[in-house]
Amino acid sequence: MKYTTEDLKNFNPKFDYFIGIDSDGCVFDSMEPKQKECFCPVTIEKWGLAPISKYARDVWEFVNLYSQDRGCNRFLALLKLFDWLKMHPAVNRRKFEVPDLVDLRHWTKSETKLGNPTLQQEIDRTGSEELKKVMDWSVTINQAVARIVKGVGPFPLLPEILTHMREKADVIVVSSTPAEALIREWEEHDIDRFVSIIAGQEMGSKKEHLKYTTADKYQPEKVLMIGDAPGDMKAAKANNAMFYPIIPGREEESWERLYNEILDLFFSGKYSRDVETKLIDEFNSYLPASPAWLK
Ligand SMILES: [Mg+2]
Repeated sequence: MKYTTEDLKNFNPKFDYFIGIDSDGCVFDSMEPKQKECFCPVTIEKWGLAPISKYARDVWEFVNLYSQDRGCNRFLALLKLFDWLKMHPAVNRRKFEVPDLVDLRHWTKSETKLGNPTLQQEIDRTGSEELKKVMDWSVTINQAVARIVKGVGPFPLLPEILTHMREKADVIVVSSTPAEALIREWEEHDIDRFVSIIAGQEMGSKKEHLKYTTADKYQPEKVLMIGDAPGDMKAAKANNAMFYPIIPGREEESWERLYNEILDLFFSGKYSRDVETKLIDEFNSYLPASPAWLK
């Protein structure tokens, strides 16, 4: 089933509580195979980064897996990759010319639904050769993900946790992954039945997904966003919602803690900002803002 931005805007609460859940790296143990086996090799190939592949790989993984930018939209990740590469001493020593991607930068500043459909509109409008190249890269990534990322299931406990959530809250998927991949993955593992809407990158930013579904519909302290990336936390904060972090590398423990302690606190109005802050501090300690080679 395909969803639209209108589905988010017209969303009618059935419960007093709302839970938004990120997908990649949060529900699914899919970040490593997606980033390391699909995104990174396609990026090195399509942008001619073979001469600096070691550094490109390090930076790509830093941005997308091991830093404050973990989980960010792919188009923003591409810009961040090139920003970091421009500052990389080893890349500069090799006199490698890192592309500027002016058109992509311009587009990402004015568009919030950063996905292939809006990119195509921008290509039709501007005829930009650079954006055509970005589209080819993005489409090739989707093909690689569909071909390679198979059988990657949700973390243990997820069906039990989702069942429990559904008894007391409206639950939707809040993600910056393309909808076709999201729906395929949630259906493949038969967990789509637990959520009311699956929102991907074509339906807006995560901040917008939460705003459309929750603003003026729930009390802010009854809205919870669960995610494995600072971007998920920012989306929650922008909507005054509560955040619960799934800590990268400690996902199973994080879900157990949610299941055994935090959900009960949340549903009884006791998941306080103090408790949340301690968890966020712990989460942030796992994700540095700048790479080790810059120091
Ligand atoms: Mg994620």
